[in-house]
Amino acid sequence: MGDAKSKSRKLATLLASETRCIYCANKPTTVEHMPPIGMFKGRSRPNGMEFAACEDCNKGTSGADIVAAFYARLSQSDNPGMLDEAIGLRRKMTMVAPGVSEEFNGPSYRQWQRTPSGLFREMTATRVDGPLTKSDLTAFSAKLAMALYREHIGVPLPLDGGVRVAYFLNAGLSQKAGDGMLSKLPLPGTLRQGRFVVPDQFAYRYNYDGKSIIAGLAGFNSNLHILMIATSNPVFYDFPIAKGHLQLVRPGELRGLLPRTVTTSAATEQPAVHGPIIR
Ligand SMILES: [Zn+2]
Repeated sequence: MGDAKSKSRKLATLLASETRCIYCANKPTTVEHMPPIGMFKGRSRPNGMEFAACEDCNKGTSGADIVAAFYARLSQSDNPGMLDEAIGLRRKMTMVAPGVSEEFNGPSYRQWQRTPSGLFREMTATRVDGPLTKSDLTAFSAKLAMALYREHIGVPLPLDGGVRVAYFLNAGLSQKAGDGMLSKLPLPGTLRQGRFVVPDQFAYRYNYDGKSIIAGLAGFNSNLHILMIATSNPVFYDFPIAKGHLQLVRPGELRGLLPRTVTTSAATEQPAVHGPIIR
């Protein structure tokens, strides 16, 4: 298949241009998709946002990717198939992120939320307090912040730089708080491959200075939101709300956030389905 050939050519080109893993000081040896292919329905992901990473960071954090993919699919909107995929991911999670599934006990309370149209609707909220889930979603959020830094600033986040992140599950981010954040983040971003775009599955807004700092709010299926700031100078720049509240994560610290060291064959990425699926 020509696929394997073009894949290795892509890897060679990427590695020739990048001297460092986007997540740590190691030499890169793999292509990291961020957001991962598994975040997208039917693994159908537009090209783009492919980064150089070392194998340890890439494979070693795949459990966090699957946990994020699972929570992103617990959608309150009518997106057929998402829930079926969540069930499959929950099974996979027991292998690559042991213990996380046990922390999830399903939707735990109902509350009224204002929808974008202004109407109130009763929605099911998921309460997740487990320490393993928290570690995984924090590591995933930190990965996304480091990837967006590389994407928009043009270099990997310096080793003495850092990110601060906060994640919100479904009803956890109120319309008012979200709107307040978005007003400070004027630039829209998503993955785009020609006319193939899936902004309902992944979109973000951001602001940056072009050389040392990026702030962003990313959404997956309106169900997992991630607020982030990534900067080469975490002492000078910071979110006032983040200080002392959100953990600072520096390059090289991702694996240390995760409660496990084992990687299994189930963690190995399968290829993406590029281009829209015709059914
Ligand atoms: Zn690395």
